[in-house]
Amino acid sequence: MKKIEDYIRTIPNFPEEGVMFRDISTVLSDKDGLRMAVDQMAASLGDEEFDTVVGPESRGFIFGVPIAYNMHKAFVPVRKKGKLPGETVSIEYDLEYGSAELEVHKDAIKPGDRVAIVDDLIATGGTTEAICKLIEKLGGKVVKIVFLIELEGLKGRDKLKDYNLVSIVKYP
Ligand code: IMP
Repeated sequence: MKKIEDYIRTIPNFPEEGVMFRDISTVLSDKDGLRMAVDQMAASLGDEEFDTVVGPESRGFIFGVPIAYNMHKAFVPVRKKGKLPGETVSIEYDLEYGSAELEVHKDAIKPGDRVAIVDDLIATGGTTEAICKLIEKLGGKVVKIVFLIELEGLKGRDKLKDYNLVSIVKYP
């Protein structure tokens, strides 16, 4: 029986020299891989009470929506600046080179909402830390964070010590 890690493809030197890129497109393009990934991520949320799945553009959408649908929860997208049409709250955060800005609709999360964040991969944790701040700005509570892949060497988990964080596949 194949495991999820068997469906993840590693591409060296993408997007730049020295990076080992963990490619989830080969998980999605296999019907068993896709089902296994969504089911295992959803199972890791099974014991948690929450209202809403929040997923960041774009691979957080791919996993977040089927998980929310299967668990009969709402889904709220976090997008790059300028993409959402309604009133938003935004946050700027540092990348390795430069910075980026993420936004969420103001009315998508209500004070007291319990939120699970879903994304494909945690590297440095910067993106997820920014998303937690966005949710908290709106009065939501982040009750769990689920990734398909964790790059442990980049220590993203250390940035998110105060949260309940799980990952399905870990790379050193
Ligand atoms: P972080 O903010 O450093 O944790 O970066 C997380 C984001 O970078 C994730 O949402 C990923 O989409 C992307 N990312 C970083 N490294 C990889 C990789 O090896 N494979 C796929 N995505 C990656």
